[in-house]
Amino acid sequence: RPRVGILALQGDVREHAAALTALGADVSLVRRESELAGVDALVLPGGESSVIDKLTRTFGLRAPLRAAISGGLPVFGTCAGLVLLADRLANGIEGQLTLGGLDVTVRRNAFGRQGESFETELAVPALQPPTASVAFIRAPVVENLGPGVSALATLPDGRVVAVEQGNLLGTAFHPELTGDRRFHQRFLETVTGRPAAAGSARAALSPA
Ligand code: GLN
Repeated sequence: RPRVGILALQGDVREHAAALTALGADVSLVRRESELAGVDALVLPGGESSVIDKLTRTFGLRAPLRAAISGGLPVFGTCAGLVLLADRLANGIEGQLTLGGLDVTVRRNAFGRQGESFETELAVPALQPPTASVAFIRAPVVENLGPGVSALATLPDGRVVAVEQGNLLGTAFHPELTGDRRFHQRFLETVTGRPAAAGSARAALSPA
């Protein structure tokens, strides 16, 4: 059982805990440096990225979090969590910092008033079946993906809303709110090692 920490300073911590617990992970909440030490992976929840940023500094978590991320800790950020994972912010509020790790620029609140919050059926080629119904809530978009970053989901207008870079995963939307656990599942697989593709496993078992 992987031990997955959730940064629990602000945001939708409970919803992530429910999704991860349902998938069999051992969940612990991270509010101080000592609670970060024992985790195999970390979730940065949705919420308000500028508030979470400030609280990581108040609680002395900024340096330990940055060290853990650059040390290779698998991290999944949703919405505000994606903002926190970005190396660059197109439009942070004054003084807002990110933790960094993902070689991307993130634009906060990218959908303007009309589309501030919406649910949509999103094409996600890496999932089976390759669509997911997801919730965007004052969501960011990803711009300027570095060479090591792959887009996992792109809106019909071309804007990138989910990315992966090694064992870092970021989504502009909230799979923890719509009950689709396949993103959490994919994240847990980066922690425990991906299972062999069904086709190849079957081939290995039955030569016919
Ligand atoms: N707009 C928020 C931010 O930039 C994110 C909103 C969310 O997490 N639902 O921090």
